[in-house]
Formats: sequence, structure tokens, C-alpha cells
Amino acid sequence: MSTKTRFAPSPTGYLHVGGARTALFSWLHARKHGGKYVLRIEDTDLQRSTAESINAILEAMTWLGLDYDEGPFYQTKRFDRYNEVIDELLEKGLAYRCNCSRERLDELREGQMQRKEKPRYDGHCRGQFVPDDAPHVIRFRNPPEGSVIIDDQVRGKIVFQNDELDDLIIRRTDGSPTYNLTVVVDDLDMGITDVIRGDDHVNNTPRQVNILQALGKTPPRYAHVPMILGDDGSRLSKRHGAVSVMEYRNQGILPEALLNYLVRLGWSHGDEELFTLDQMVELFDIADVNKAASAFNTEKLLWINQHYIKKADPTHLARLLSPHLGELGIDPAGGPDLVEVVRAQQERAQTLIEMAEISEFFYRDYETFEEKAAKKYLRAVALEPLRMMRERLAGIDDWAGETLHQAVIDVSESLELKMGKVAQPLRVAVVGRAASPGIDVTLELVGKDASLRRIDRALDYIHARMEENAT
Ligand code: GLU
Repeated sequence: MSTKTRFAPSPTGYLHVGGARTALFSWLHARKHGGKYVLRIEDTDLQRSTAESINAILEAMTWLGLDYDEGPFYQTKRFDRYNEVIDELLEKGLAYRCNCSRERLDELREGQMQRKEKPRYDGHCRGQFVPDDAPHVIRFRNPPEGSVIIDDQVRGKIVFQNDELDDLIIRRTDGSPTYNLTVVVDDLDMGITDVIRGDDHVNNTPRQVNILQALGKTPPRYAHVPMILGDDGSRLSKRHGAVSVMEYRNQGILPEALLNYLVRLGWSHGDEELFTLDQMVELFDIADVNKAASAFNTEKLLWINQHYIKKADPTHLARLLSPHLGELGIDPAGGPDLVEVVRAQQERAQTLIEMAEISEFFYRDYETFEEKAAKKYLRAVALEPLRMMRERLAGIDDWAGETLHQAVIDVSESLELKMGKVAQPLRVAVVGRAASPGIDVTLELVGKDASLRRIDRALDYIHARMEENAT
């Protein structure tokens, strides 16, 4: 049977990084084996599932580029099918009706707790006749003895004793099927060969295997992936910072960087840190995933992000940068070619937010000079170089890097100054801060009018400062 994996989120919130990593591992496993990848929305919990969350999950999957071959399937659309299987189990005597009252179950539970036993259903209704037309649940008749052995691809062999498992409810009083039943039916109907999921589900697995066996089917292979921890060793949660995939997008992380970061969280290939998606597909092996939980490390994510920003195709990066400029109220259409701006800034930013911030001056006049830079460079000694630069630049019609570069050289030479003594005040004048790409590219992209206007502003500033000092 050809490989088929699935990602099966419950739409009760955004897609968090743990879920995204599980989705990635499943995707990689399918791609590596030339198989198929299914997206299934497990929305049977009607109280907690929302359309908003479904959209958020789909958006995050698209942003990450984890494309699926089938789905999204919605469990709420498959109730007839689940009921068909439940009825089949009932007919074969593999499931039974139970009308134990809440009081009885509470009492049972309390007694077990007092005796320090594991709370579980005692099979009271197994042999009873429970009519169909009064309120009841359906329970799966779990094998009373023997064991379930799971050869987990990540955790190795796990053995569960059947007498530790009780007869779980597969259909609630309101007629809705429960998680363990729906998953089994779906994995079966969808032909899933490999179930890769979070290890919070490991205790459900023997129950699912028992149901599958009752139906005469062969269980899929399982791989339970350990959870992601925060830097303090507890389960990663909001209090550690961003946990939602889309929050990382909003913080200026590239999807390829997040995927690269996530794949390394619990999987390794020698000492290598950087993997393109193609390399991941080639090298990833679910059996190499670590059994132990791994801790999220934001510093490392930023380092990887910087790497991808440097390496990215500028057109691709420009597309991703654009919304971040939008956040700053900048319309990239109203200024220099964004691809050229990206090319100039690629080496200078760790995130797209940072890149947007340091690119703002290309699109509008800065509000004030950066204080330190102005103090250091916009002084009386800069007056002459700036004046000369202004005059020289005003006469340039061919506003291009090379000509602009030559202008800075010429002014430096005629004043017998090192180039930095001209270029640095010029930079602060034009961009308002001490750092920017090369002065020639900076001037070219800022444009002639804005450059001259800003130099005038810097000249005024120096004059005002000199007057202040004189009084
Ligand atoms: N819907 C479950 C969850 O979001 C996953 C179930 C599974 O993968 O079997 O945790």
C-alpha cells in the first residue's frame, strides 16, 4: 500500500508551532515516500470548534506551503458513516448500549479513587438489555485480557494491558460519535498508512487499535512525536511568547525559516542546521525523530531566519515584506522598486519587521534624526561637505549608483577628506540614521528630490545647532 499520512487538527484555536511541526513531519513522510498527504478537520466538538479557527489553520498551512493532496475533510460531514460503523459494531456484539446514570458512574469513580484504583467503567451494562428508545450511550467492548503492542516509529515498542483499558464510549447520549471512533473510521476509510501525531494521544492508540481489530482491520503504523517545551522546561505555551504560526509570520519570520527551525526541533542529520525543503524531503526519516521533548529557542529561530533572508530570492522576499511595510502605513507603490530595496537590505535584517523599519526612509521622510547619529555627524565640520554634496547632486541628471558614488569621491577629494567624512554626514542627512546600505545605492533609491530636500533639512539642523552653541 502506498504511503498516506494525515494531519488532523481540531479547530479550537490557531495552528500552534507544535501542531505545525507534526504537520510538517507527516508531510515530509508522505513526500519522502512519494505518498499522499491528507488534511482532516476534526470538528466534532461542536462547542469548541469554530469556522474562524478552521480558516486560521488553513491559512497557516498555506503560508507554510504544506500542501495536501486530499481534503480538507470535515468530520461533521461524516456522521452517517460513523453511525454505520457503530451500528455494525453493535450488531456484531462488539459494542453495547449503556444507560448507567451519572450518579452510578460518580459513585463508582469515587470508590475507585478511594481505593487508589485507576478510575474506569466497570462494564456494568455489558450483559444487560438496554432499550434503544431510552437515553443511552454506546460503549465499545474492549477485550478484557491480553495486551496491545505498538511498534511506535519514534518511541519504539509500547505495551498496554487490556485490563487497564475500559469500555470507552463511542457514541454519546446526544448521538454524536467520540474522538477515538471517528479517528479509527477516518484513518481506515482514508487509507492512512502512517499516523504521525503528538504524544498526548499515545494512550488513545491501544483503544484505536482494539477497535480496528474488532472491525477486522490492520492498524496503521504509529509515530508519536514528543511535545515542544518552553525555555523553562514546561510545555510551550503563550506565556513563553509566540506560539501561533501566524504570530511568527507577523513577527517577520519567513515560512521556510520556521519550517527549517521546526524540523530541527527533535530531528537531526549530523551537525547540520540548515535544510531546504528538498533536502528535508530527502533526508528526513521519522525513525530518526528524538524520543525526548525539545525546547523552543527563539534565538536560533532568528539566526535561521536571518540566513533565509540573506539567501532568499529578492522578488520572493519583496512579496513577503510588503505587508510589513503596510503595517507601517507605507504603500510600496509610492516609492522605489521594492525588489531593489530588498536587494539593498538583505544583509542587514534578522526579520522582515526589522527590514520594513530600516526601509521606511526609502518611502517617506524620516521624522527626526536619530539622536546619537545627529550629534556625532551633523556638526559644524559637516557643513562644508554637505553643502558641496548638495550642489554637486543637484546638478546630476543621471541619478544612478555609479555617478552618485563618483560624486562622493570627487567632493571628498576636493576637500581632502577621507570618504567617510563626507559619506557619513550625508547618510545621516538622507536617511536620518547612521546605518543604511551603501551611500550610492541609498541615494539612488531615495531619489533626487527627497535626497536634496533632506540634505537641506540637515543643513538647517546644523545651522540651528551652531547658533545655539554660539549663544
Ligand atoms: N484532532 C487531534 C488533535 O488535534 C489529533 C488526532 C490525531 O492525530 O489522531 O489533537
